[in-house]
Amino acid sequence: MAIQRTFSIIKPDATKRNLTGAINAKIEAAGLRIIAQKRIHLTKAQAGVFYEVHKERPFYDELCEFMASGPIVVQVLEGEDAIAKNREVMGATNPEEAAEGTIRKEFALSIGENSVHGSDGEDTAKVEIAYFFSGLELVG
Ligand code: ADP
Ligand code: MG
Repeated sequence: MAIQRTFSIIKPDATKRNLTGAINAKIEAAGLRIIAQKRIHLTKAQAGVFYEVHKERPFYDELCEFMASGPIVVQVLEGEDAIAKNREVMGATNPEEAAEGTIRKEFALSIGENSVHGSDGEDTAKVEIAYFFSGLELVG
């Protein structure tokens, strides 16, 4: 499997509880390199654009409200099979279903406030990275 890049977010529930370092430690322990990272605070409208694919889902408004409720850390991760590897270290969307040792199992509060986002495929990774980072900010 080739070296890939994926996009990651440490969500407001985690930044509020000062878990950025603990989550980064799990990402790095999985063999992923954090090649870009910044802390930002989205508006609800900006969160809405990012999560546009979910706009018909019943939780869309709540999700956008939550993502704008505090600072987030946006990241680009690089490594072998990075997209799937990051999904693995994140764990299932619902923390009750997440495997032992995963970020969501350890830190998530609920299915909504679940501490991290990770791209689900190559195309979404490209679009999501480009939404938050310029090429110059990716230092591999
Ligand atoms: P994932 O983040 O694991 O890729 P989805 O893409 O299905 O999950 O959903 C995006 C985000 O929307 C989730 O991470 C979570 O924050 C929120 N979400 C998903 N399902 C629900 C739900 N049933 N109720 C509230 N929020 C949800
Ligand atoms: Mg998703």
